[in-house]
Amino acid sequence: MPTTTAQPNPATAATKWLSTKAYGAQSATTPIAPLTIERRTPRPDDVQIDILYCGVCHSDLHTARSEWPGTLYPCVPGHEIVGRVTAIGTDVKKFKVGDLAAVGCLVDSCYKCDNCKEGLEQYCSNGMVGTYNGPDKYSGGHTFGGYSKQIVVREEFVLTISGKLPLEGIAPLLCAGITTYSPLRHWKVGKGQKVGILGLGGLGHMGVKLAVSMDAEVTMLSHTPSKEKDAKKLGAHHFVLTSDEEQMKKIAGSFDFILDTVSADHDYSFYLGLLRTSGVMVCVGVPPTPATVHAINLILGRKSLAGSLIGGIPETQEMLDYCAKNNIVSEVEVINIKDINEAYERMLKGDVRYRFVIDMATL
Ligand code: NAP
Ligand code: ZN
Ligand code: ZN
Repeated sequence: MPTTTAQPNPATAATKWLSTKAYGAQSATTPIAPLTIERRTPRPDDVQIDILYCGVCHSDLHTARSEWPGTLYPCVPGHEIVGRVTAIGTDVKKFKVGDLAAVGCLVDSCYKCDNCKEGLEQYCSNGMVGTYNGPDKYSGGHTFGGYSKQIVVREEFVLTISGKLPLEGIAPLLCAGITTYSPLRHWKVGKGQKVGILGLGGLGHMGVKLAVSMDAEVTMLSHTPSKEKDAKKLGAHHFVLTSDEEQMKKIAGSFDFILDTVSADHDYSFYLGLLRTSGVMVCVGVPPTPATVHAINLILGRKSLAGSLIGGIPETQEMLDYCAKNNIVSEVEVINIKDINEAYERMLKGDVRYRFVIDMATL
């Protein structure tokens, strides 16, 4: 495969740059292939991390293939990053060289707006900077993610992790973990509540583990019959095949809360019918096509349809600490980076048990 180079903006040529091996897409229709990117050398508040593992999120695929608008190329995906600190800037307090460290979906925000002040950096009014495909104020270009040997990130956006649990299992917590933890906490899911997790993939399997750990009664809602055994192993109390009309009829109007993690286009109204009066369905999956929902599906039963984006930095740290305390990690299939395109194809078929994680030693 050809090797290409993504250069920093000449406007910031005074900054020193580190040539870094990476994998990325050159266009929506080309495979993920080797390339070289430039990382900035650490500024006073930066942490430089040698990446050990990076999870593969369905958002990586949506972005690399321009299934959502606005992808900038070359696109180096990856926002479930764990690694070891190799250098720190002079002002860094939380980390020293050799420490374990993690980076999730955000690498910068304004820290001035009300959302940032509340620790909701993901909703920064001035625009958060995603770990990839975000506006990089230092290079003048766009950010490159974790399918790479190293990353340099402002200290506030670097998380601490415990060395107690397997690092490859921790990596997916940085997106799949926090994206499911945050809505479960925000809507106060807990004992006595019936929760449906829709879609058993990367996010879905973390949703099951976390909701079970919070003492909810959890039903896995899946369109794949072969996942029933796994759903039970993950702790789900019930499994319902969404294509089975009889089973679906039995659970109509029964859930307090549904977490919708489905990545493909689907009918929201169909699943709103599973909520009880005043129930809430939260979309975290982002299918490529906008959906249509008739108001009557919300009005009858005072139902809510909501959304949630990853989580802020304080809550991401809280989730990592919670998972360390409760021995919660992701179920992973560790892959060689050369197999990333095949992993994308398997992810599209729903054939992930339950998160691919790239071993960066293979890069
Ligand atoms: P994933 O591992 O591919 O899982 C998606 C699951 O959706 C599949 O395993 C499958 O579960 C179900 N599914 C797929 N195609 C379907 C279809 N045609 N009909 C019904 N169900 C289908 O993906 P992921 O990494 O968990 O990500 C899920 C979605 O969340 C993506 O759209 C991603 O971009 C988005 N996301 C959002 C946020 C956020 O902050 N809101 C963060 C991360 C990711 P079953 O086989 O069990 O049906
Ligand atoms: Zn993600
Ligand atoms: Zn802000």
